[in-house]
Amino acid sequence: MLAFRSRLDKAHTALVYLLVVLAGSVRGGRRLGLALAASAFLLFNWFFLPPYGTFAIRDPLDWLVLVAFLIASAVAAEMLHREQRRAEEARRRAQEVDRLATLGAEALNVARADDALAAISRVIRDTLRLAECRIHVPPTGEADSELRDPLVAWAVRSGQAVLRHADGTTGLAPGGMPFELSLEGPTSVSAVLIPLRVRDRTVGVLELADERGIVLDPGQRRFLAALAYYAALGVERTRLSAEADRAAVLREADRLKDALIASLSHDLRTPLTTIKALAHDLRSSGDPRAETIEDEADRLNRLVADLLDLSRLQAGTVPLQLELNAADDLIGALVQRVSGALNGRELRVRIEEGESLLIGRFDLAQSLRVLVNLVENAHKYSPPGPPIELRAWREDASLTIAVSDRGPGVSQDERDRIFEPFYRPPGQTPDVGGAGLGLAIARRLAEAQCGSLTYESRAGGGSTFTFRLPAADVPEAELL
Ligand code: ADP
Repeated sequence: MLAFRSRLDKAHTALVYLLVVLAGSVRGGRRLGLALAASAFLLFNWFFLPPYGTFAIRDPLDWLVLVAFLIASAVAAEMLHREQRRAEEARRRAQEVDRLATLGAEALNVARADDALAAISRVIRDTLRLAECRIHVPPTGEADSELRDPLVAWAVRSGQAVLRHADGTTGLAPGGMPFELSLEGPTSVSAVLIPLRVRDRTVGVLELADERGIVLDPGQRRFLAALAYYAALGVERTRLSAEADRAAVLREADRLKDALIASLSHDLRTPLTTIKALAHDLRSSGDPRAETIEDEADRLNRLVADLLDLSRLQAGTVPLQLELNAADDLIGALVQRVSGALNGRELRVRIEEGESLLIGRFDLAQSLRVLVNLVENAHKYSPPGPPIELRAWREDASLTIAVSDRGPGVSQDERDRIFEPFYRPPGQTPDVGGAGLGLAIARRLAEAQCGSLTYESRAGGGSTFTFRLPAADVPEAELL
């Protein structure tokens, strides 16, 4: 540029120098860029600002040019440097993500869930060059007591990361997670326990252990955070697959049980009929034990019938004749059926018909069975004396029938359980009642007819069982 200095403008010089500074920064980094900027500043002054060959400046405005040049080139060098650093960081991250994605896919792509956990811990151990990496999984969600290491159990319970030092002391990882923890330079941390969390639930613990002291740089911590999540997903997958296996086994057991009950109930009935017939013959010959045999055979027969019904109801194969029926007919049949069993006790019936007949769409025989069971229970489980009350009314879209007694009622925590098959509250006299199937069958029968059967305690003491069936609106003329 010296050769044609007389024809050069200050702007030309400044721009050429700026180019040199930028080229230097790109190739040699920030330091070279700044050094070039400083040298260019001096050279510009010495060679290209009059008086030439001195650092003096004739026109004070030239200072402005020089200082502006210096600032512009320094800023350009710095910005270039930052951009380059960012690009480098982005490249590194992209590589990390690529590596993680491959690792994750490989680790989770094994056929068995347990193998996935082993693969993940191997990858973590090898990548971080640690002596050991283990994944602890509590046998079931809550049973952390089964984890032998109390520190691991604590990490599961609290969901916080824990550090174990070489001298045996333990401490919490600051911030609760080791990923924010700086484990740089030689450390005394011999184990890190990281809770594995999926959707705010701790599903296991990842343990990193190395007696030489664990050191993790930021890149390794990021890697660990990502792989810990894979490990958590792996644990969750193991749990879900175990649950699916258990469910399949239960389903199979349930199916077997239903098949067994159905075939047993069938096969028991034939010999029972024979026993009963023989007992009947014996009775006519005057043997006093015949009556007991007959009664017990009847009882067994009822139990077998109930079992068969329950299994049919569970399988959804009970034939139902859903027809229009009047509450009057149902309750009339009920009164007839139970009058013998009540031993003279009063069954007080109130049918609130209002203007029109109370009609519903239901199976008469099966609904009668539900009501007989409710009335017999009311009789069995309440002291003799007060009448059993039955009230029928229309409630929105339901034909509702409530059977109430003044017995002891059912305690709060047993109100749902009494509807379970075979459930009888503890401490109940064994000879009162049957096998605990009556209400289970009654509720299923109600539900099979799109109705319901519920329990409420009765004001003033006692129980009310409410049986609801779908009501129907039919002009009286159509019924006649
Ligand atoms: P079971 O009468 O054969 O025991 P249920 O299924 O009919 O079987 O009844 C289950 C249990 O519910 C009974 O054992 C009894 O404890 C309780 N229970 C039923 N009805 C009444 C009632 N009206 N009052 C108090 N307890 C009742």
